[in-house]
Amino acid sequence: ANFMRVIVDAAAPGLDHHRGSDLLCVVRALLKKIRRRVLVGDRVLVGAVDWTDRRGMIEDVFERRSEVANPPVANVDRLVVLFSLDQPKPEPATLTRFLVEAESTGIPFVLVFNKVELVDEQTIAYWRDRLKSWGYDPLFLSVDKQSGFTALEEMLEGQTTVVVGPSGVGKSSLINALRGNQDISEEDPIHKLVEQNSKWFGEQRVGTVSKKSGKGKHTTRHVSLLPIAGGGFLADTPGFNQPSLMKVTKKSLAETFPEIRKALKENEPTKCLFNDCVHLGEHGCVVKGEWERYPYYLQMLDEIKIREEIQ
Ligand code: GDP
Ligand code: ZN
Repeated sequence: ANFMRVIVDAAAPGLDHHRGSDLLCVVRALLKKIRRRVLVGDRVLVGAVDWTDRRGMIEDVFERRSEVANPPVANVDRLVVLFSLDQPKPEPATLTRFLVEAESTGIPFVLVFNKVELVDEQTIAYWRDRLKSWGYDPLFLSVDKQSGFTALEEMLEGQTTVVVGPSGVGKSSLINALRGNQDISEEDPIHKLVEQNSKWFGEQRVGTVSKKSGKGKHTTRHVSLLPIAGGGFLADTPGFNQPSLMKVTKKSLAETFPEIRKALKENEPTKCLFNDCVHLGEHGCVVKGEWERYPYYLQMLDEIKIREEIQ
């Protein structure tokens, strides 16, 4: 069986003292039958509780506020889109792809630049100004030097966060730095239960078939939520490092660019002359122009059009 660790935040009258404790739960067979997946981060209804052995059964899943597919986590409050100022340097096209993907989730996000100690003040100012012209207000920090953390930590307080970004920018390092020393104690009864059972709680298993050999190959995807300072949670696995843009449509792409949102807002109530304007130079378009990322918008629009035609 697959076990999930559930933290109790409400209990029946008389059992209120169990709030904040945790239970090792199995998922009710019926939920699996009707293909209701339980994700890490889900709010669930637990029954058949044995408070002594700290066991229970997940009987229902409450509606999700949000959902991230990679890693699979429900009720994510914030994304940290992480880049580095050097090693590797930020690529405007890659940066734009990540920003568009993050915007398309509808989850609030903060853009963070790591490795500030590798560059001079001018470079920091350059990226701050450049991102400002795109409509963003990034944070700058160094995981190595442990500097610039305060603003980020305040922002993540009480929230469930997933870190995303290209490889090499320091996602794993950031996650480790934020989690602090809050490892589960060996004495923790849940820890002992988990030790006795082969599978870790909160784990998602995803079976894939290897394209090369065609043979079934099982890859295991582990994700759990780590408690962080200030009462929030952080996914221990970084998210999408290859934005697929699968949730972005020809119509919704424009909404993922702050520059376009701004141009439309400034031209309210008329906006573009045609309601279905995709800002390619249609008559009466208020978006087409000389802004820096317009070429990226056009490229991505092309890519999405091709994808939509194939589908
Ligand atoms: P990930 O691929 O995004 O998870 O990146 P990692 O966390 O594995 O980090 C990639 C490399 O960048 C490692 O060699 C880290 O030691 C290094 N790194 C992480 N943070 C910093 C930093 O603040 N400054 C510098 N100079 N290197 C860093
Ligand atoms: Zn237009």
